[in-house]
Amino acid sequence: MEEQNDYPKFTPSMRKTHTILIPSMLEFHMALFEASLIQSGYKVEIMHNEGPAVVEEGLKYVHNDTCYPALLVIGQFIDNLNHRTDLDKVVLLITQTGGGCRASNYIHLLRKALKKAGYGYIPVVSLNASNLEKDSGLKITFPLIKKVAAAMTYGDVLMYLYNKTRSYETVKGSAKQLALDWIKKLSDLFAENKGTSYRSLKKYIKQIALSYDALSVDLSHTKPKVGIVGEIYVKYASLGNNHLEEFLVSQGAEIMVPGLYGFILYCLYNSIYDYQFYKSSKIKAIGCKFLIHYLRKREKLMIQSISKTKITPMKYFSHTKDLSEGVLSHGTKMGEGWLLTAEMMELVEIGYNNIVCAQPFGCLPNHVCGKGVMKKIKSIHPNANIVAIDYDPSATKVNQENRIKLMLSIAKEKINEDDPVKL
Ligand code: SF4
Repeated sequence: MEEQNDYPKFTPSMRKTHTILIPSMLEFHMALFEASLIQSGYKVEIMHNEGPAVVEEGLKYVHNDTCYPALLVIGQFIDNLNHRTDLDKVVLLITQTGGGCRASNYIHLLRKALKKAGYGYIPVVSLNASNLEKDSGLKITFPLIKKVAAAMTYGDVLMYLYNKTRSYETVKGSAKQLALDWIKKLSDLFAENKGTSYRSLKKYIKQIALSYDALSVDLSHTKPKVGIVGEIYVKYASLGNNHLEEFLVSQGAEIMVPGLYGFILYCLYNSIYDYQFYKSSKIKAIGCKFLIHYLRKREKLMIQSISKTKITPMKYFSHTKDLSEGVLSHGTKMGEGWLLTAEMMELVEIGYNNIVCAQPFGCLPNHVCGKGVMKKIKSIHPNANIVAIDYDPSATKVNQENRIKLMLSIAKEKINEDDPVKL
């Protein structure tokens, strides 16, 4: 509480002079978020620094019982600052969920770490939907939400189609190159303040789906299908999960990573459940209902566009969310809560029976909602082959990969080579 009034502020006048540093997470989404924030008048840079120095800085300035994602994000910030010369012209952006989980406190941990590292004069901006930092210079306006929602929609479509095709491409790297070409094109459109309307989304999502439909693929070999779930940071950030996606693909798997839409809709639905179960704010619940409606219209665009190709589209989230029923209540919402259970149930339902559940050190909620429900999921789906992998500063990559290889060997045993491959 001591820092409530004396921390450096990110003021509106700094928008033109200061670069906002953002931790890396989802490659495609982050590139598009960067473009939409730049168009909104902010100077932005996604950090890409990795390596042992990030963990070392995290361990130096964060208490070692803190969740691993906080340690990595703070370590990445400090390592990045250590290599900059424009220290008086940077601002750090961190997300706050506003829920009961420790992610709401990351901002205080970061400010404390900055002070200890000698960077206490650098402002920290909070990105949140709960007004936890009321004096933030970053204003969440409807036009910004619209741009970010469009970026998220394109990001989810690209990530989905990339993962569907990357293991079968006949020209190595072509699926990735196609995604990068689209990111360039969409970023150029964003720069002209185009590409974010409903009509534009409809047009470009259709074109993206058709471009992946036309990508040359070899479907002659059946591959084990592996889904990735877990705490949001270690699920999505290659820094957090030691490049899990690349490792699985290198081992001959087809992978599925549930989209960011699921997490955002999960957060929005939680406000409605909060009102229903715990009698919290009715106004917030009504606002979230509006946003759910807004996103569901765009989700429909993704699904309808992909269903016109040979690629199987993702499921509607309204279906996914119901899959946790009977396993975990919608009232369970710390960490990834019921979403983690629902995503595992869905993955098994759509044929990704093999699942890696990424669990960071210090994350009690996701141990309950991930590891804690595996037995129940296996009793409903006996063919589910789930492995929980722990990520922490002392866990070695070799140990993690050996456990995943064991899961993959079981997956490969169950493959029927005569089954036709369906994207
Ligand atoms: S979900 Fe887990 S890792 Fe994330 S803030 Fe909560 S306890 Fe920490």
